[in-house]
Amino acid sequence: MKDSSRRQAAAFLILLAVPFLPPTAAAENLRREGEHVIVEWGDGNASPEAVEAAMELGETYFAAISGMLGHGLDRRIVILLQGAAERPDGSRGYPRVDVWGRILLYRFGPTHHSYFSALAHEMVHVFRIDRRPHFDMFFEEGLAEMVALRVDDSREGFPWYGFPVDLVAGQWIARGKEIPLAELRERHEDLNLPCKAQAYALRSSFFDWLGRARGDEAVVAMASEKRAGRLEDYEKHFGADFDELAAAWREETLDAYRAIQNADDPTEEYLRSPIRYMDVCGGD
Ligand SMILES: [Zn+2]
Repeated sequence: MKDSSRRQAAAFLILLAVPFLPPTAAAENLRREGEHVIVEWGDGNASPEAVEAAMELGETYFAAISGMLGHGLDRRIVILLQGAAERPDGSRGYPRVDVWGRILLYRFGPTHHSYFSALAHEMVHVFRIDRRPHFDMFFEEGLAEMVALRVDDSREGFPWYGFPVDLVAGQWIARGKEIPLAELRERHEDLNLPCKAQAYALRSSFFDWLGRARGDEAVVAMASEKRAGRLEDYEKHFGADFDELAAAWREETLDAYRAIQNADDPTEEYLRSPIRYMDVCGGD
């Protein structure tokens, strides 16, 4: 007992001594370094093809995102390939950026491609990580997805699962299960994960529309504001206030959805996609 508490005390002191270093998995993890990305994976978590694809896509997306945002990064982006999303205990890993700015990716299907559906989106978050103290998360999530849709138009993963943006967002509105954008913006913390299926689709569609209707460069210009995402930023960069923009987006998205031939069929198909595992709230 004495020994183990001494060991715990020693470990605690070591943690105190290096609080800002990532839990350097480098000793256990395998690693490949590229010009702008570093890929790490635990033994057995990634095939050689997956590692190769991570390197290639990472560099390709890095160039595209940096071109779109108009700046680079003073460090390389670490991409961790974490293995299957489903863990033995039944919980699921989800793609995200950890506190050290590393991108954690999970494999959602049998092929290695399923690792990368969120890579471009997460990379945008890393490009902006130094702004974290000023993050307006509604804006950051919207920006990340708009840029991701431009640099990777496959829409393979959440929340699209291969379906068009207008169908995915429009069906929530048409079926009376939308959450108003103003509410998603003001109550991001409360609603984003509990209403994940709707929140990501509606917000992403709104920023995609903003880019198409008012120019991607206007969205990027807003992103360069120190506290990007304030209500006045919308007025300044898009010439209309947030509520007007939200209303225009809603109308056009609903029109686009209604213009889809037999929209009920692809809607049902979409609702049978893995979106069915994501949290939906309200509107029953
Ligand atoms: Zn995100």
